[in-house]
Amino acid sequence: MKPHHISKHTASVHAGQQRNTNQGVVNPIDPSTAFQYIDAGDQFYPRYFNTPNQSHIIEKLRQLEHAESALLFSSGMAAISTTLLALLKSGDHAVMLRGLYGGTHSFIIHELDELGVPYDFAGAEVEELIGAVRHNTRLILVESPTNPLLQIVDLQQLAGQAKQRGIITIIDNTFASPINQNPIDLGIDLVVHSGTKYLGGHSDLCFGAALGSQSLIDQIRDKAIRYGGSVNAVTCYLIERSLKTLALRVEKQNHNAKRVAQFLEEHPQVERVYYPGLTSHPGHRCAAEQMEDFGGMLSFELSESVPGRDFLDKLNLITPAMSLGGVESTATLPVFTSHRLMPDAERRRLGIGDQLVRLSVGIEDADDLIEDLGQAMLAGETRRASSIGA
Ligand SMILES: *Cc1c(COP(=O)(O)O)cnc(C)c1O
Repeated sequence: MKPHHISKHTASVHAGQQRNTNQGVVNPIDPSTAFQYIDAGDQFYPRYFNTPNQSHIIEKLRQLEHAESALLFSSGMAAISTTLLALLKSGDHAVMLRGLYGGTHSFIIHELDELGVPYDFAGAEVEELIGAVRHNTRLILVESPTNPLLQIVDLQQLAGQAKQRGIITIIDNTFASPINQNPIDLGIDLVVHSGTKYLGGHSDLCFGAALGSQSLIDQIRDKAIRYGGSVNAVTCYLIERSLKTLALRVEKQNHNAKRVAQFLEEHPQVERVYYPGLTSHPGHRCAAEQMEDFGGMLSFELSESVPGRDFLDKLNLITPAMSLGGVESTATLPVFTSHRLMPDAERRRLGIGDQLVRLSVGIEDADDLIEDLGQAMLAGETRRASSIGA
């Protein structure tokens, strides 16, 4: 029988909420780093990842991701690096999705070589990922939807095939958030998050999380205690405050992104839209099966007549900014941001053109966002027309 899970809206508000600690409805902040001995058992200590404030958030995230256990980290990269280092030892092999988040990619190519851990990158098709498996493959790390083209990995199929081979599967679930996707329900072993994005949601917090079975999380915790990427109580308070509106925010972002994607798909100055919620998206059917909804991230190719930089300059409401998942809509040109260090040929091979714009859709009114995008494309057109005239 499937375990019963509390609804996402309810879990966002109530999971991890302590009763009877004081008269308030909000968990108190306990900034202590020294705690009185109670017995000889586990002592509270921030770097042991077990203080009261850490535990409240862990409980909330654990319920939102349908995981047995979880750890809260000081950044997404702390969660990812500690997880990989806890599971991989010299001589193990790893399969990594091609086009992982830049920081993860950088960690892999700089740190794993030094540790003597060979790895291969593979495309988002399950046959490619499984095709890269060797006799000593220990884990497979993916993202879905991917950045910036929102490709979809069939998670259930991947998890099933990996499990048959005794391989651990890990997904970075940052883009979907636990509101839209629960990979553990699909058989994935571990979920990692950059909480800096949707979980924090206000572009003012940096944290991360790893979630999975008790035994895997215990293994990661041992390593984490030695590496030390923990979060303090005041940050925990802010994370908790953010998480209470997670389901509400993401729901609005899903709705807005759908509206924006439909608008862009019909716009004459847009060559192509990448959004898994569109039926034209190659991963749409799989996404519809494995996701609750399609998320707030999308990207699109502008036609040549609207230069990408001009377009970003002309946006009034949508802020040209890195990062994503905030209440405010932001836009980037991956060619100048996430993929600027990548050789041109390699970038184009991945399908990331010079005119590709990535949007993180916020919680504003969808009509206002559409209006802003429309006027920025128009402005590009007029300016070009007048410079040709001159
Ligand atoms: C931002 C991000 C990370 C890294 O998280 P930090 O909190 O910046 O360390 C990892 N994965 C994805 C998909 C991200 O967007």
